[in-house]
Amino acid sequence: MGVPASQAFAVSAYLAKQKIQRKKRYPLVLMLEPLWRCNLACVGCGKIQHPEEILNTYLSPEECWAAAEECGAPVVSIAGGEPLVHPQIDKIVEGLIERKKFVYLCTNAILMERWLPKLKPSKYFSFTVHMDGMRDLHDEMVDRKGVFDKAVAGIRMAKELGFRVNTNTTVFADSSTEDMRELFNFLSDDLHIDGMMVSPGYDYPAAPNQSVFLKRPEMINKFKDILSLPERPKWKFNHTPLFLSFLQGKYAMQCTAWGNPTRTVMGWQRPCYLMNEGYAESFDALMNDTEWERYGYGRDARCTNCMAHCGYEATSVGATMKSPLEGIRAGLATMVGRQS
Ligand code: SF4
Ligand code: SF4
Repeated sequence: MGVPASQAFAVSAYLAKQKIQRKKRYPLVLMLEPLWRCNLACVGCGKIQHPEEILNTYLSPEECWAAAEECGAPVVSIAGGEPLVHPQIDKIVEGLIERKKFVYLCTNAILMERWLPKLKPSKYFSFTVHMDGMRDLHDEMVDRKGVFDKAVAGIRMAKELGFRVNTNTTVFADSSTEDMRELFNFLSDDLHIDGMMVSPGYDYPAAPNQSVFLKRPEMINKFKDILSLPERPKWKFNHTPLFLSFLQGKYAMQCTAWGNPTRTVMGWQRPCYLMNEGYAESFDALMNDTEWERYGYGRDARCTNCMAHCGYEATSVGATMKSPLEGIRAGLATMVGRQS
């Protein structure tokens, strides 16, 4: 795992508290989208198709901090849109760190070198850089040449300045096992990134190119291949063993979208970061008035091909807490998978 010990300890203490209080539903990661404006138009993106007036709406730092306090999750993932387009992103981050939130700033890294002097390294702060492949594949997926090189330069500079840097890779139909092997080896051996996240692309109906998405059985086969590669032990994934087993079809679980509540410029998005069924006015209204049992695999057709960590990582964390043996068994299954 590429998570610092202080974070692992704080999150475990938070989870233990929820368990002692017998809470049925609780947030683990706040998905904070302070804007939907982006400086890219990736082929598989379903976030940037809003009308201009909504793209011009940004959450203020105060609204972001209030969302974090209202929600109470120990981890905040700042996404969007592109967070580094927000003119007050440094202030937003600073205020979240003051509130002792573990902040992951998800970025395409185009503006990273410009922002680095205004941000401070902290055990509470990590960048999560969008990396969908090596140069050709990445630039094809983000639909602009030169973005891979820009991201690599940003990562190198951030690492030199002492920042923690993680990456997030979305696996699409065109991402071959060999592409992923080359990328993960490069990120581990050359860039020495602190942790990696990986997720199958969600088939957003609004995404401009629908042919990039895989169906669930195809994704499972692809992840089986990728996670069976001999280099797998050196790749530091920021995921539970259960989630990695789930991606390979070795462990079945249902989505718990309430684990990753999403605060957007329009309010608290129902039911999740990926699917939009309207907005709740408050975090409490989102948690209490959403019919959570309507969503997930086999319940809603739009969930059929979703295996994203925002829906399933909270489930795997909950399952691991319920039965550590289950976690160990799934972890072993993952290890067996990579040896076969
Ligand atoms: S960088 Fe992210 S938000 Fe921007 S277009 Fe690409 S996927 Fe969408
Ligand atoms: S499975 Fe869960 S996370 Fe995925 S789209 Fe459905 S509700 Fe959202």
